[in-house]
Amino acid sequence: MVVSGFSGAGKGTLMKLLLEKYGNYSLSISATTRNPRQGERDGIEYFFKTPEEFRKMIQEDAFIEYARYVDNYYGTPKDYVDRQLEAGKDVILEIEMQGALKVKEKMPETLLIFVTPPTAEELRRRLTSRGTESEEIVAARMAQAKEESRFMDCYDYILINERDREKECMEKLHRLIESAHQETARNLDFINDIKKQLNDI
Ligand code: 5GP
Repeated sequence: MVVSGFSGAGKGTLMKLLLEKYGNYSLSISATTRNPRQGERDGIEYFFKTPEEFRKMIQEDAFIEYARYVDNYYGTPKDYVDRQLEAGKDVILEIEMQGALKVKEKMPETLLIFVTPPTAEELRRRLTSRGTESEEIVAARMAQAKEESRFMDCYDYILINERDREKECMEKLHRLIESAHQETARNLDFINDIKKQLNDI
């Protein structure tokens, strides 16, 4: 499944809570050309790459998808995702919209979830209070959010992340994923059942 949302929507915290509580999830680690923020470690939050290294990965067809976001490139390495899927994990890609739509196109069974704060003002507040971004970057990210809001209706679910209610939001996300699984399982059971009936008639 893919989780997107405006930068500052609180996806990072949600993912952390989800992974801490439930064992069946695996969060894909992306490659990026942006500089690490304070506390970010190579190979944990991201694989930090130079533009040349990133270009080489594109040439080697090492990405499921990649996209330019604000001034940097971000991409999902195939390797890691394939290995986690083989291990039976529910793999989550926390990626922006262009990438999300590419993944859905390639793999239509992907569940697309969009996380947003309740208001635009709350989004600006969160971006500013992070304290790690310059004013220009905050402005660029607000402009990006405006652009992205045009495509929110391509998502299967919109998940509103209220201030100080992250745990509730995480449980809601978990339930969404669980019920999507059940839907698929029910559909598969139904399909197998009706095939059998048609065979037996
Ligand atoms: P940040 O710089 O705040 O960590 O991430 C900026 C945006 O890039 C976020 O919306 C994040 O979800 C997105 N992103 C992170 N990794 C990937 C990726 O592999 N592919 C794409 N398309 N977007 C990504």
